[in-house]
Amino acid sequence: MENEKNEELSENPAKIPETGAQPEAPSEPVSEAVTEPVTQAETQDGEYAPYGVSYKEAQAEKPQKKAMGEGTKVFLAVIASLLVVAIITGTALHFSDRFTGGNKKGGLWGEKKEAEVFEPVKYTYVLVHGLGGWGENSEMSKTGSYWGATTGSLAEYLRGKGYDVCVPTVGPYSSTWDRACELYAQLTGTKTDYGEAHSKAHNHERFGTEYAEPLVPEWSEKAKINLIGHSFGGETVRMLASLMANGDEAEMKATGKETSELFRGGKADWVFSVTTLASPHNGSQLTEIAGGVGKMFGVDNAVDLMVKVVFSALSSAGIESGDLNLMLEQFGIGGDTYKNASDAIEAVTKADNDHAFYDLSPDGAAKLNKKIKTVESVYYFSYAYSTVTKTASGRFTAKPGTSTTMILSANLLGNYKCTTKGGIEIDGSWFDNDGLVSVVSAAYPAGEEHCDLGENAAQTQKGVWNVAPIQSGDHGTPVGLGASAAKTHDFYIKLFEMIDLLTR
Ligand SMILES: [Zn+2]
Repeated sequence: MENEKNEELSENPAKIPETGAQPEAPSEPVSEAVTEPVTQAETQDGEYAPYGVSYKEAQAEKPQKKAMGEGTKVFLAVIASLLVVAIITGTALHFSDRFTGGNKKGGLWGEKKEAEVFEPVKYTYVLVHGLGGWGENSEMSKTGSYWGATTGSLAEYLRGKGYDVCVPTVGPYSSTWDRACELYAQLTGTKTDYGEAHSKAHNHERFGTEYAEPLVPEWSEKAKINLIGHSFGGETVRMLASLMANGDEAEMKATGKETSELFRGGKADWVFSVTTLASPHNGSQLTEIAGGVGKMFGVDNAVDLMVKVVFSALSSAGIESGDLNLMLEQFGIGGDTYKNASDAIEAVTKADNDHAFYDLSPDGAAKLNKKIKTVESVYYFSYAYSTVTKTASGRFTAKPGTSTTMILSANLLGNYKCTTKGGIEIDGSWFDNDGLVSVVSAAYPAGEEHCDLGENAAQTQKGVWNVAPIQSGDHGTPVGLGASAAKTHDFYIKLFEMIDLLTR
């Protein structure tokens, strides 16, 4: 079995998978700047950059002079970009599959120089959705799959290939902390415990939903799990791995023996790997853009503005009466009790930054990164996506094929600079982006140890971020949104084959 795998890998020595290729369908006209001569980013259209090219080199750019464009346009763009939920729940599910033949072969490792023999070990894969998303146990799954989107259920496909896959649902707009607690409760089949210290600090209930059936009944240090997070789901899975290993001191202090298993730590080896896809490890500067625009409209707090915009949009889209459970039970407004968007706005804005929008801001992400520890015994992989191209003027603009909902935000991020309240410099290194998240944010949490994804399993290190080459595609590409089914499936098969071959 392992010999077959090795042969397959060595057949295509320099091939890097075209996982994130753009959809072939025509998109709305992109700004005129796209037709300007392009520089290095053009190389991302076809083949990916070779291993060994660092993000910094790949993103070398010239200083920018211009700031944002006119207010109203920007405001609309921010709203559009924030509606991740609309992207996936609305139009996306009605797209037809776009199959392109030719399932390309090739490993996620670029090159396999010598035949190494590894015993593949298949641990359960746990797929954790991003902002506004859902899992298989959500009513939303009746209308379509978040994982797989326009290509159909990814989990079903992977199960058909023999993989054990589970797809939990965590609070679509909840904080990283709350989502990690909910994830743990679902995996273990226990009552959600948000922690005594945390719930007191953020004015919400300590306990939430009780899950009768564990999603991973045999979960232990022997039957580990592989965590895969898309977008904000990446922060959730990092938090879970960190809590499993280290627990939480404040919670231990607050409740002693009554503390949830999750906060006791000592379970580092229950997690085998963490993979993040287009995750905003250093936040998204869209929050800063929203803040700038908000000031024009007399709103001073960027994060509050985002909460208002998103929940109001959900309300006007009729989502509140639909199947998307906002899962804000900890604030007393989840499930059937949720009737009005204004309830959600009020509760979440009083939660002292205990929600997704704060964790998604660069300042919030920086705070989060201090709390989340990279676990020495766990493999970490990150995949950043790019849907923009660098123009002669130095700004980055959306490529043709970018989802129409992300063109404006891709163009905005491609030319936006600022310094956040917390002093984070959003400079030209943030221009390259996938429409919602910058490549520099998706690569690895700032300051964390990292290296380029190794050429083979033996080179892959634990406890450091193994950063894959920049993938071509927008923010929806990793979950198959508007992407080719063949390429989407191929990406996951190759990713899982790579992970299964890692040294235990
Ligand atoms: Zn909370």
